[in-house]
Amino acid sequence: MSNKNISITLTTNKKQKPDVNNLVFGKVFTDHMFVMDYSSDKGWHDARITPYQPITIEPSAMIFHYGQTVFEGLKAYFSEDGKVLLFRPEKNMQRLNQSNDRLCIPAIDEELALEALKELINIDREWVPQAEGTSLYVRPFIISTEPTLGVHPANNYKFMIIMSPVGSYYKEGIHPVKIAVENKYVRAVAGGTGQAKTAGNYASSLKAQEVAEEKGYSQVLWLDGVERKYIEEVGSMNIFFKINGEVVTPELNGSILAGITRDSIIHLLKHWNVPVVEKRISIDEIFQAYKDGQLEEVFGTGTAAVISPVGELFWNNERIIVNGGQTGELSMKLYNTLTGIQLGKESDPFGWVV
Ligand code: PMP
Repeated sequence: MSNKNISITLTTNKKQKPDVNNLVFGKVFTDHMFVMDYSSDKGWHDARITPYQPITIEPSAMIFHYGQTVFEGLKAYFSEDGKVLLFRPEKNMQRLNQSNDRLCIPAIDEELALEALKELINIDREWVPQAEGTSLYVRPFIISTEPTLGVHPANNYKFMIIMSPVGSYYKEGIHPVKIAVENKYVRAVAGGTGQAKTAGNYASSLKAQEVAEEKGYSQVLWLDGVERKYIEEVGSMNIFFKINGEVVTPELNGSILAGITRDSIIHLLKHWNVPVVEKRISIDEIFQAYKDGQLEEVFGTGTAAVISPVGELFWNNERIIVNGGQTGELSMKLYNTLTGIQLGKESDPFGWVV
């Protein structure tokens, strides 16, 4: 038992660790996981760390039918001085509860969730890969397990945390990606679930992603669901544009995810006195800025890549090459600074690292 009453059962059969040079994202899981149950009579209860193993739920469990579920994603890094560091993990637990609220899932105790996470990482510490650029990806999630087909918020849930060692996102160094602006499909609308990290948003994004990939683009840039005019976000990243010295990013309008990397980038830019604004931006404005020679850099932000420079944007049969298809100076500086903070190599002016 830990202070927060998390019971711990350790595995007697440790798995072999994968080759850190050949990790495929999210395929291999560590020896242990965290589980906690919810029932309407007991609330959240029975917090426990157990060996990683399959779970048994009924085929009628609501998660399989109506997708009442939420998740998070964050990374633990091995620092040069042998510590395991988390980047703003309390923000992920806060966002998990914001998603819970939207999906009618009972709130979790954020402090307990953080404690559980730290305990789990401590137990599976040997699984945090140490090679440059590698990390331990952490996936907290909640599913509705009540075995009923009626459409209503469930009376039973499971909150779990699983972890997977992941390889370097940029094996050959940071490089720009090609993005297709999506005209046909939409990801989210005002009043919908776009702001929540819930499975349905990702299920509905697959089709556009598949079409974009067939055309040689790595991700799509979503436009608003009503006018198909205003920029929202990329598949799993928020998006920033540097136009004539000013950095702009779509404001949090309820249909885009409030990325933790996005928030961190805005803080860093302000700290450096680089002008940064959150506002509604149309795709027209971006293509016009390009034609006027003012579109200096485009980059995505998210836990996976941290910063992902965009070298090409395709929209309405028009292709624009940003910054000669090269990584911009600001993108590079942001990448180096943020990864430096995450690895405990750079000073951490905002106290983000745990
Ligand atoms: N948008 C979407 C849709 C995402 O899935 C993610 C990844 N969580 C992001 C943005 C970036 O968020 P964060 O910086 O918190 O990883």
